[in-house]
Amino acid sequence: MGERKPFIAGNWKMFKTAREAMETATALVNRVSDVTGVEVMIAPNFTALTAVYDVVRESAVRLGAQNLFWEAEGAFTGETSPNMLRDVGCRYVIIGHSERRQYFGETDQTVNKKIKAAVEHGLAPIFCVGETENDREAKKTFSVLDKQVQNGLKDLRSDDVAMLVIAYEPVWAIGTGKTASREQVQEVHNFLRSLIEKKYGNELANSIRIQYGGSVKPNNIKALMEMPDVDGALVGGASLDADTFSKIIHFQ
Ligand code: PEP
Repeated sequence: MGERKPFIAGNWKMFKTAREAMETATALVNRVSDVTGVEVMIAPNFTALTAVYDVVRESAVRLGAQNLFWEAEGAFTGETSPNMLRDVGCRYVIIGHSERRQYFGETDQTVNKKIKAAVEHGLAPIFCVGETENDREAKKTFSVLDKQVQNGLKDLRSDDVAMLVIAYEPVWAIGTGKTASREQVQEVHNFLRSLIEKKYGNELANSIRIQYGGSVKPNNIKALMEMPDVDGALVGGASLDADTFSKIIHFQ
């Protein structure tokens, strides 16, 4: 896996009040204080970011947000800008999660604007891509992913892409209990890396981290992480409990 430090991230979605998020973050910080070879991030709800940052700031656990808006400020009721996220301690931001594409009208074009805004403000995007079950059955997995990557990364320079993490999240495996087989995951990760190589060259392709997401659990993480192009995981449901998430982080 070369230079790529494994990266395990938790997406807490619309779960946990600020107090609950603080409690889980505190338990997690305690359980992973021995971990050095894996980067760990949690993305709580916006309302919990400040409280959770207070808990993780002295630890190795990084803070991420689940979304952003691309403008720096303005009359955009209900939205949150990249600099506001930086201000409360975020290093990462999840962009283009399938739930946002499915329920909130997120498109490859809005994803592209958000990625640009994130990198411009020093936030590292976790850029989510993934095919639906219909796409896979129709043998469109690679063409769908190719389109998401080309459009999502449109006009981005190498320096910007160097900040990026890609998360391959097959829509049919998110929150469903169905995990893609590790051979399916490896095949797609290898394809995604080859797309980056074609656009940005070998060095960047070899250094960019590609996470897998979709029903990752303590009992399947090790097998997934053994695949050469799997550099980590984006974990939903199983990241909500500190003990379970800590087991995933201690996969080695
Ligand atoms: C996710 O939301 O990014 C995800 C992968 O969810 P789950 O682990 O619950 O499938």
